[in-house]
Amino acid sequence: SRRVILKDYVEGYPTEEHMELLPAADVDEAAAAEEGSVLVKNLCLSCDPYMRPKMARPQEQWYTEAYVPGTTITGFGVAQVVRSSLPGLAAGDLVSGVTGWEDYSVIKPPFAGQLTKIRPEDGLPLSYYTGVLGMPGFTAYVGFHRICSPKAGETVFVSAASGAVGQLVGQFARLMGCYVVGSAGSKEKVDLLINKFGFHDAFNYKEEGGDLTGALKKRFPDGIDVYFENVGGKMLEAVLANMKVHGRIAVCGLISQYNLTAGEKEADVGVRNLTSLVSKRIRMQGFIEPDHKHLYPEYMAWVLPHIKEGRVVYVEDVADGLDAAPAALIGLYHGRNVGKQVVRLTAP
Ligand code: NDP
Repeated sequence: SRRVILKDYVEGYPTEEHMELLPAADVDEAAAAEEGSVLVKNLCLSCDPYMRPKMARPQEQWYTEAYVPGTTITGFGVAQVVRSSLPGLAAGDLVSGVTGWEDYSVIKPPFAGQLTKIRPEDGLPLSYYTGVLGMPGFTAYVGFHRICSPKAGETVFVSAASGAVGQLVGQFARLMGCYVVGSAGSKEKVDLLINKFGFHDAFNYKEEGGDLTGALKKRFPDGIDVYFENVGGKMLEAVLANMKVHGRIAVCGLISQYNLTAGEKEADVGVRNLTSLVSKRIRMQGFIEPDHKHLYPEYMAWVLPHIKEGRVVYVEDVADGLDAAPAALIGLYHGRNVGKQVVRLTAP
């Protein structure tokens, strides 16, 4: 049995040296037997961008608690219950929720109570519960349908559009009857956007000669109604210059900022074109999905038929084995993942 720990706080880009695969101690049977705790065998782990801010020193944190160096990394995952002291969960049940980067985890309250039981009868890949049926899917739903206030016929732009969240925002926008364009960092991803996810147009932001404003102008001659923001920085500046009057920007994430060093943050001059917010009366709103948890059952009821009937598809990038997890996570910040990055441990 093994586990992955964070070795030290991260400044700048994370590397494999910041994490370590170690043998795990024997399962703490006493902790597992405590009322409200669950012992699980982890089957699938999720790599998510928010894990990088958790690797920063606690004083740099935003809304999540920092990881503690020397302890096991935690994140979303899918697991099978081995033993349960929690009413409603029994050995053999499949669950999704916050677990550890290790073969076996003892999940204690309050996280044990937040585990979601998977219905095997839905017949979907278990890894989907870390993606389209889990946190990223729900983020796309809440962020697009609630924060963006979209209407049929509007123009929508999505950045990091082939990723875990972006590929779904694009599809949800198309289902709603919007005109949707995405940006991504490779030709392979751009092809996926158009041919697999049904975006009306897409471009590789690394191949626009630095002229993102022009790239957007070409695709949105009359402007953008809705921007689903995943990256920040230069892309946001270019979007602001291309927004329509009364446009909406949902700030989901700013991945281009997560690995800036303290010096780079200090030197940062800030986002240009902010006067557009006033002149165009734009609503720009940040959000985090946990604030909307009560809508999760509504989301599942809405998305499951779309998946089963093929109107929503999902692309995953699967790394095999716990030893592959650190590189898979790091890859997110270099755009190596094509689709939702997951790590498969074992089949149930
Ligand atoms: P992705 O699957 O999209 O993976 C990250 C992608 O970001 C990479 O593949 C890469 O794609 C792109 N990227 C990485 N670095 C940069 C950079 N410097 N500039 C531009 N693009 C970059 O991740 P998710 O879909 O899981 O997350 C997308 C965003 O949503 C993140 O900002 C994340 O923090 C946020 N998020 C917010 C939540 C909330 O509740 N608010 C919940 C979940 C996610 P490419 O090749 O296209 O560059």
